Amino acid sequence: MKLLFVTWWVISWLGKWITAASIWKLLSAAWFKVSTIKLDPYLNIDAWTMSPYEHWEVFVTEDWWETDLDLWHYERFINTPLSKDNSITTWKIYKTVLEKERIGHYLWKNIQVIPHVVDEVKEQIFTVARKYDITIIEIWWTIWDIEWPHFIEAARQLKATLWKENVMYAHVVPVLYLNYSWEFKSKQIQHSYANLASMGIHADMLVCRTEHPLPESIKEKLSLFCDIDASAIIENRNVESIYQIPALFQEQGVDRIILEHFGLWASSADITLWNQKVDSLLHAPDKLTIGMVWKYAEQQDSYMSVTEALKHAGIVFHKKITIKRLQADDFTHADTLQTIMDGIDGLVIPGWFGSRWMEWKIAAAQYARTHNIPFLWLCLWLQMAVIEYARNVLKIQHAHTVEADQNCQDPVISYMPWQSDELLKWWTMRLGAYTTHLDTDSRVYTLYSTYGPERLNKNTIQERHRHRFEVNPAYYDRLEQWWLHLCWKDATLWLVEFIEITNHAFYVATQAHPEFTSSIEHPHPLFVWFIHAAQKKNWA
Ligand code: GLN
Repeated sequence: MKLLFVTWWVISWLGKWITAASIWKLLSAAWFKVSTIKLDPYLNIDAWTMSPYEHWEVFVTEDWWETDLDLWHYERFINTPLSKDNSITTWKIYKTVLEKERIGHYLWKNIQVIPHVVDEVKEQIFTVARKYDITIIEIWWTIWDIEWPHFIEAARQLKATLWKENVMYAHVVPVLYLNYSWEFKSKQIQHSYANLASMGIHADMLVCRTEHPLPESIKEKLSLFCDIDASAIIENRNVESIYQIPALFQEQGVDRIILEHFGLWASSADITLWNQKVDSLLHAPDKLTIGMVWKYAEQQDSYMSVTEALKHAGIVFHKKITIKRLQADDFTHADTLQTIMDGIDGLVIPGWFGSRWMEWKIAAAQYARTHNIPFLWLCLWLQMAVIEYARNVLKIQHAHTVEADQNCQDPVISYMPWQSDELLKWWTMRLGAYTTHLDTDSRVYTLYSTYGPERLNKNTIQERHRHRFEVNPAYYDRLEQWWLHLCWKDATLWLVEFIEITNHAFYVATQAHPEFTSSIEHPHPLFVWFIHAAQKKNWA
């Protein structure tokens, strides 16, 4: 059991997860069994109640746990599902300690941060690390934060518990470049190293975030002052795509340095396939413009999982995907839709919560359906498409969702009976992976079976979910009779998972979040076929 801790200190936004994920990529490509853990200082149970402005989208693991996006970043680098055990918040640690106290686990002891809380951190790390050769552990911590000492202390103690060669510390730091004096500055790194050392942790590797290539003189200086071998001062400079980082690390021997520290040996990791995909991503000859509706407009990356899934699919057809951000605020009435949608090859709308802009969304659904615009609609948008169809084709005039109007006359989208008392409590969410039976006559089955058959288990697939409302079974008959294939209902709950219209360029909506399981090596079939249709403007 080998542990690699990834720390930071000076500022956030250094791409700590990119460092951890890229190392993971290299080590697993060298055939080691590797996992990762994120240690989060928050007292939130999970990411459900964290600020979307700081954490963006919420990610869900297969085993129903809501985490911040770091776990998604890891998964898309490695294509391996993580579980709730890979996300440890301070809440999880304290909850367990306090529960153990009530059952007399620590009888006649004063319960303290050291040893009890720190021991619990170690125990929860072991729960994962026991099953792997190497576990990479990211600690969320910057200067003056006072929420992390139990994590840092656990990281320190583990070196003594597991012996020196089994524990390694990689410290992620920013190198500053002053444009006005044309010089690199590294004093902040020396402070950071000294501060970490004062807590008993001596970094074995420095990963330097930098805008420009690092001169040897800076590496030598850092090596001298931080007592780290110059070869372990790693340059992590700005690159066009984050997917280039594993190659950048490999060139500098990051995997070799780590394996040497752990006393392990392997022939060099083969990431040729990965690098080829990155190359196609960066050098795709043609462009495709996909419209995406944005909710958190000020945040460039708020739907990163969806924009990345589109880029992954673009690689298959050598297309560079350009995202046109459509602001729902701009859509005042239907005739502005035409101007706004002008020049887009396809429309993707990510999931969201709340009734804001709902009437606009319904109008957009009608526009895309009647103007043959290829669209792939996710989660809430399946619900909007159903409302649109119910109103405009089935003439159920007052069709709506209870999310917007609890007492609506025709709740085509509704909560299920077992949710009603507790609506809006977190446990009423449908979270995590659910198995779905696909009708083999359907388009959706064809999409999965021709691109990504490895996702099919006979005629079932698993997709991740994160939503509360469902297509109301009371309306299945009417909906089915008219149009959509509502044939794929969740295997146990018998709920609508996909809808499609066949006489349309591409009209597929899903209640799930397929974007969470897309990667450059394994683009998701729905996104691939959507891009296929968008480039031809037709999927036939
Ligand atoms: N608000 C909708 C629901 O809870 C959809 C959620 C989503 O798009 N993730 O059902």
